[in-house]
Amino acid sequence: MTTPTDLGPYPAFEGYDEAVSRDTCDPLQGYRDHFVITDPELIYLDGNSLGRLPKSAVSTIETVLGDQWGDRLIRSWNEGWWDLQLRLGDRLAPLIGAGPSEVIVSDSTTVNLFKLAFATLQAAPGGRDTIVTDDLNFPSDVYILDGVARHLGGRLRIVESDGVHGPLADIAEAVDERTALVSLSHTVFQSGYTYDLSEVTRIAHEAGAMMLWDLSHSVGTIPIDVETSEVDLAVGCTYKYLNGGPGSPAFLYVRSQHQERLGNPITGWWGHIAPFQFELEFRPVTGIRRFHSGTMPILSLAAIEAGLDDVLAAGIDAIRAKSVGLTDYLVDQIQAHLEPLGFRLASPADPLHRGSHVSVAHETAWPITLAMIERAKVIPDYRTPDNIRLGVAPLYTRFIDIHTAILRIHRIVESGAHHEFVGTTAQVT
Ligand SMILES: *Cc1c(COP(=O)(O)O)cnc(C)c1O
Repeated sequence: MTTPTDLGPYPAFEGYDEAVSRDTCDPLQGYRDHFVITDPELIYLDGNSLGRLPKSAVSTIETVLGDQWGDRLIRSWNEGWWDLQLRLGDRLAPLIGAGPSEVIVSDSTTVNLFKLAFATLQAAPGGRDTIVTDDLNFPSDVYILDGVARHLGGRLRIVESDGVHGPLADIAEAVDERTALVSLSHTVFQSGYTYDLSEVTRIAHEAGAMMLWDLSHSVGTIPIDVETSEVDLAVGCTYKYLNGGPGSPAFLYVRSQHQERLGNPITGWWGHIAPFQFELEFRPVTGIRRFHSGTMPILSLAAIEAGLDDVLAAGIDAIRAKSVGLTDYLVDQIQAHLEPLGFRLASPADPLHRGSHVSVAHETAWPITLAMIERAKVIPDYRTPDNIRLGVAPLYTRFIDIHTAILRIHRIVESGAHHEFVGTTAQVT
């Protein structure tokens, strides 16, 4: 086997008819056509790392380049660029249940996490010097939290999990009168475990701590309501399920009641009350704008709107319903066809606690991943040591894609096509 077309008369699996009929009744099926799809045979299961390119992003960028940069030049700052990050923040806010002027799009998730964690720890009442997180959190988030704690003479506590499920009871145990901040990923990057936002936020609040969520892997696929869940702070990516483009700026949310109390540690001119007075003293502007630092990358920022438009138009409840349908079907297919070949489900079985990707573990996961990409036109991603992540993006992933991907993986392992990749390395996995 070298390409999917070589699969030839490989017998159709059980589950094929179900895939076809579910695609036929899919209320979101029309959205797939909103995306650039250059190779219809390619099955893209990595929308949780980099969403596909929306067709309308291409025309938006052409306008920003030609009309705004090309023709209007610096006048464009007064014709929409200066406020673009606020406008996009307000547009994104309903997706996380936030109000107007509570969200901005700014910098990267990493930098935003630093800004908000630092601000919170610095403003914490005396005696509260601890940040609590878990070992399922994205390691980069843990580095940031640890760095913040060190900068401010505090400490980080990392609660241990079983590797798949959020250690809820142990987190409740770890949070105490020394805790300033609890910071977790809503949907964790490896297993896809998804916390109950209200439940954990309540645990933090009952101990007198603030709650900061990283919504990178849930925004755009799971309904989020920071308002009713009483979430204090949140950050998240726009280039995953929001399809904002590689490295597109991230968002941050600060509940309005906290905005004046917290100070951005990166005190740049975009957070100044009068940036064009060019005074030497930093005076923070009031409101969410103070969490900006410096000039925004306008091209990347402008590209975000197209992806947001589709998610908002499709509706987050419809997206979540399809996401659960897809991951349920995926789990069934894994159990039926891949477990007999040595694969193991490495995600929660309960869809209530599962995001929009499913991890499967296999002892030769890395060579299998390479064979999927190089020989079978299936793009997942790989997370060390033995996980293959299969992400479903409800706006463009079909049930038949999942069925076919499982069939191709089965074919690879059964035929031994992955053996030639043992020992091969890559920079980005
Ligand atoms: C994807 C992701 C990030 C990425 O942060 P960048 O600053 O964009 O590199 C951070 N945290 C979590 C939880 C993520 O899933």
